Amino acid sequence: MILNKPITYISGISSQRAALLYTELGIKKCNDLLNFFPFRYIDKTQFYAIKELQPNSSEVQIVGKITHIKSVAQKRGSRLVATFQDATGTMELVWFRGQKWIKDSLKVNEPYVVYGKLNHYNGSFSIPHPEMELVTEYKKKLQSKMQPVYPSTEKLTNAGVSNKLIRNYIQKLLQQVYDSLQETLSKEIIDDFKLISKRDAYLNVHFPKSQESLAKAQNRLKFEELFFIQLQLLRKKLINKTKIKGFVFENVGPIFNEFYSNQLPFDLTNAQKRVLKEIRKDVASGAHMNRLLQGDVGSGKTIVALLSMLLAIDNGFQATIMAPTEILANQHYIAVSELLQGMDIKVDILTGSVRTKKRREIHANLEDGTLHILIGTHALLEDKVKFKNLGIAIIDEQHRFGVAQRSKLWGKGGPSQSSQREGAELRNRYETARPSVYKLMKELQLERKKKTTEAEQILWEQLKTKKLDSKFRRQHIVDEFIVDFICIEKNLIIEVDGKYHTTKEQQEADDLRTKILQELGFKVIRFTNEEVIGNIENTISKISQELKNNSESSLPLGGLGWAPPHILVMTATPIPRTLAMSVYGDLDISVIDELPPGRKEVKTVHRFDSNRLSVFKFMKDEIAKGRQVYIVYPLIQESESMDYKDLMDGFESVSREFPLPKYQISIVHGKMKPADKEHEMQRFVKHETQIMVATTVIEVGVNVPNASVMIIESSERFGLSQLHQLRGRVGRGADQSYCILLSSFKLSEEAKTRLKTMVETTDGFKIAEVDLKLRGPGNLMGTQQSGVLNLKIADVVKDSKILVSARNTAIALLQEDSNLSKPENAMIKATYLAISRSSKIWSEIS
Ligand code: ADP
Ligand code: MG
Repeated sequence: MILNKPITYISGISSQRAALLYTELGIKKCNDLLNFFPFRYIDKTQFYAIKELQPNSSEVQIVGKITHIKSVAQKRGSRLVATFQDATGTMELVWFRGQKWIKDSLKVNEPYVVYGKLNHYNGSFSIPHPEMELVTEYKKKLQSKMQPVYPSTEKLTNAGVSNKLIRNYIQKLLQQVYDSLQETLSKEIIDDFKLISKRDAYLNVHFPKSQESLAKAQNRLKFEELFFIQLQLLRKKLINKTKIKGFVFENVGPIFNEFYSNQLPFDLTNAQKRVLKEIRKDVASGAHMNRLLQGDVGSGKTIVALLSMLLAIDNGFQATIMAPTEILANQHYIAVSELLQGMDIKVDILTGSVRTKKRREIHANLEDGTLHILIGTHALLEDKVKFKNLGIAIIDEQHRFGVAQRSKLWGKGGPSQSSQREGAELRNRYETARPSVYKLMKELQLERKKKTTEAEQILWEQLKTKKLDSKFRRQHIVDEFIVDFICIEKNLIIEVDGKYHTTKEQQEADDLRTKILQELGFKVIRFTNEEVIGNIENTISKISQELKNNSESSLPLGGLGWAPPHILVMTATPIPRTLAMSVYGDLDISVIDELPPGRKEVKTVHRFDSNRLSVFKFMKDEIAKGRQVYIVYPLIQESESMDYKDLMDGFESVSREFPLPKYQISIVHGKMKPADKEHEMQRFVKHETQIMVATTVIEVGVNVPNASVMIIESSERFGLSQLHQLRGRVGRGADQSYCILLSSFKLSEEAKTRLKTMVETTDGFKIAEVDLKLRGPGNLMGTQQSGVLNLKIADVVKDSKILVSARNTAIALLQEDSNLSKPENAMIKATYLAISRSSKIWSEIS
């Protein structure tokens, strides 16, 4: 098939040019070129009347006559201006260069077709340097069509690769492949959605005859693109559900029931009940739960988490909650301990500031199973933390964690259960859970393959000699990996990491690689270049030690030392539905879309800095009523010291306005030690202070119901989701709460929209939708690494309707034919497999 050949196959593309197209645009194979789509079109099918012109029209084509030509003096030299007129109005054509020649060639009072970019100035329109053709000439030629404009780069333009050239290449290619282009969707789907054929879609997206045929072509290609992504995601989900075994919590036992009937301080909301039901179904199913729980701040996720943990405990398992900050971990600990008061359940907390002695105690209690629930920060991930039998891991506020850490929790499961897993399933799991790290891991793999380092050479010389009594192989393929060295009999892999494995992300990627290899049943030892080169004897002796320890039976190939705990990820950052479909399309998603009863909506206003005095006055009134107030300052990493100064200046002016001893003020910011932060927080929690001046460190999870005023300084500098999170800190008690957004006068359009949205709504999902529209999917929390950014033609925001139908179609298809084995789905299957294959590393290597 020509499409799999490199683009040099197309006549006129030299290898030099091909290399340039690859580095600049990522185009390597003919198929890449075919799927390189125009980003806009020059529409020469339409003619405009002058009266119809709009200030925002870009390129326009008009038929009319020149009535008058004059030279107009300007600052430097002059310009040539022609008055151009049709039956509906008058405009100007303007030239700055080649005036003499142009003036001589222009014909007055003859009909012309002019084309060019429209300028709008002082209420009148003009086209500078238009393309012009006499209507008599224009009629003689074949009608020109819509012209595609492709993305390009400066380098390409400088190297003479023009838009026209690209168009020619694509034309040549299409001529060659058009007849052999295969349909990829089933007849049923094509009929259902009235799609045009694949080959016509390609033809018309590159060389559309009209706006209408272009729209049809785009619709077909967008549908196809989204459909196959959904099919991949949904099949992954299906495989996870059917193949990865999970612990079964079959009993809803005495602990859960006792808590539910005696300890629960309120009735669950319907949304909480529904979500709990979803979770219970998951954990009883025998499959591994991998669920995302979305719920706005204050929607009551904690209680759902706790009830899920009680289910685990009822079935003899342990449970854990990991929070992103110490403050938040503490709050969870306090909340959970209070809720469980009087029950025979042991809860503890592990954070970075827990002392060694206490730490040891926790480790011991975890391992012998006396500790039921452990709450903590990333300190939970340390190797020393080993559970006896972890049944469920709950991760709060997921976007704060590197995905790497999430998967580390997977590794903390209990004793072996009879679960078998294949590499493909592991890949699926990791690829979705940790896309960025996964991608980097793959890149490093390529690096590994390309370069043989000196250290590897030295080590190989030693391993080859069989001094170690075990046969090693080099650059051996294990599942999808090429490992540096392997001793197959002993399931031992040795890897040497080059000096480029130094950044945190790279180390995360290496850890992921190790993790997957371990899950596949191998022991993995890593050395750095320096270790090997510096002390080869030591390296060899370590390996030999490992060989002795590693008896074959202890780690059967392909087996697992443990089963993964169920995973529940909780996030307060709502993700719009269409985006969630694309980003988490293979996960199960639960949504708490209802706030507990009796909450008053937070009243939100926007005020300019000049109104600060009245804001202070308002604060005083609220404080006099016994309320507490937050004042938050931005903290943006790039200008941390400046922000720090703003914060300190602000603190000073607030201190002046609210003097001791009448007023007490807490201050919390990122530069403080955790213990000091905690101390200041606690003073506020205990109502010893009335005002909390802070940077965004308080964004996550702080719960002080008596605090009813949130003042956000320089609010124009915050993103929408952050503003929403911050506002969520108030409105937790019975009193009316307020959020005051302070800003300067100078506001960008985007900032205005953000502030307006905050004032208008408190619905997190609505806010997320606006955020998505403003910033595009690439900038939303937690979606950065997702494949939605690599879409070639579709756009998850603009094409959300197509996305929904593509997903529903994929769901229906898998329900009927989960293995795509029916003959009528053969072409779908072929494409599906081709896509799956190409997303693996093999195609790159071999
Ligand atoms: P979040 O989803 O932000 O983590 P929390 O779990 O911290 O929310 O709950 C916020 C507050 O609402 C807590 O004080 C909690 O006790 C309370 N709460 C949760 N569920 C309910 C409910 N069904 N009825 C009344 N109050 C509730
Ligand atoms: Mg919470």
